[in-house]
Amino acid sequence: MMEFMTFDVGGMIFKTKRQNLLTYPSTRLGKMAQETYDEDPVIIDRNHTIFSNILDFYRLGELHLPQNVCAAATIKELEYWDIHQSHVAECCLKIITEYEESVKKHMELKRRLDDVEIDYNSKEVSENKAKQLIRQTWLFFDRPNSSKPAFIYSIFFMLVTVLSVALFCMETHPLFREQVQTKDEILGLMNFTDLFDDVNMDNPKEIVFVTTVVKPLLYHLQVTCLAFFTTDLILHFATCPVKKQFFRSPLNVLDAFLVFSMWTTTVMEFVEIWSAGKIAGTVYITFKLCSVFRPFRLLRLIRQHNGLNMLFLAMGNSKWEIGLLMMAFMFFSTFFAGFVYYAEYKEPTTFPSVFTGIWWSVITMTTVGYGDEYPKTLLGRIVGTVCALSGVLIIAMPIAIIASTFSDFNDKNKVRLKRQSFQTQNKKQDKSVENHFKPYQIKQSAVY
Ligand SMILES: [Zn+2]
Repeated sequence: MMEFMTFDVGGMIFKTKRQNLLTYPSTRLGKMAQETYDEDPVIIDRNHTIFSNILDFYRLGELHLPQNVCAAATIKELEYWDIHQSHVAECCLKIITEYEESVKKHMELKRRLDDVEIDYNSKEVSENKAKQLIRQTWLFFDRPNSSKPAFIYSIFFMLVTVLSVALFCMETHPLFREQVQTKDEILGLMNFTDLFDDVNMDNPKEIVFVTTVVKPLLYHLQVTCLAFFTTDLILHFATCPVKKQFFRSPLNVLDAFLVFSMWTTTVMEFVEIWSAGKIAGTVYITFKLCSVFRPFRLLRLIRQHNGLNMLFLAMGNSKWEIGLLMMAFMFFSTFFAGFVYYAEYKEPTTFPSVFTGIWWSVITMTTVGYGDEYPKTLLGRIVGTVCALSGVLIIAMPIAIIASTFSDFNDKNKVRLKRQSFQTQNKKQDKSVENHFKPYQIKQSAVY
């Protein structure tokens, strides 16, 4: 048996001691060392860059990976040479973990962005004229990027949304309201009915709501917006190819909910039902409160905007970090609240209870500092200083994590878009080439 073995890998000659290879007899090279006896080089058609690292593994007893080869290729080579990944040295393990992480993120991107788009069956559409029209309507309402009219409509939709948000703000200002009865009249009425028993006559906001109504122009605009959103929702839903999937999109759920709440409040205003009793009043105020979600309608226009999707993805992927932030925050705010309470124990004007302390520590740690509660003694101020400093540190960390996840997803998404554009280019090429050429297909399961 020769002491040395010679390999011809991918045209490069390698020489190594047979004894080295025998240290791992279950690997491919170990088996070769046991079975091959002649002097001729063993010819193997594999990557020679990685092979030198593989040989080093037998010489040194630890596996270091080449830095200039893609991790996916390295993993394939390790599989070929029957070397388990557990042999990879700690310094080079990062290459593999980073690769696995990036595969996971790619899968997540694919799952979240590729599958959400629902469309009609292309075969059915090409055969049926009516179906074509319905599909056109669906695209018109659902995909601003599908055609020019759809894009113009989406801009119009956005303007109506802005108008409805503006109306929501305007109707709370006395300038846009008409007086129907004075405060004295209400006070007089209070002697006869119990309608206004819950109204606090010292609160100017409540007085505005019971003595005035929205000006007619504003009211009509509001009803027009409502009619527009209702029509949009009905047509959007009616033309949806898979009705069940329609409400899987959070934006569509929001749309339906807003239309419902707008109808409820408008009808209530019309029949003045809100003044009919306590429960009706509460229902009215609750649905009015739901109007604060109106600006979210704008998301529909930028739904296909990638940056926004990436932001949501990054938030979803950082849920553990966000949870950790909440935990740390709760822990530290209670801790400092207790501290400041006892530090200020001898001071009669500050921190009546630990609960006030919690409010104070949250406001201090977020660096907001309303200044409604503040320590006055030296000891209390020292606690305040430590509280503010630790708040800065606790807040800064998770934000950095979310930001890096966001930029990571953004990079991956650029790769995904590039790949998509390559795929469509290939399809176009294939169509132009004669049929006897077997079309080139990119494997869907492949990640890179
Ligand atoms: Zn290494």
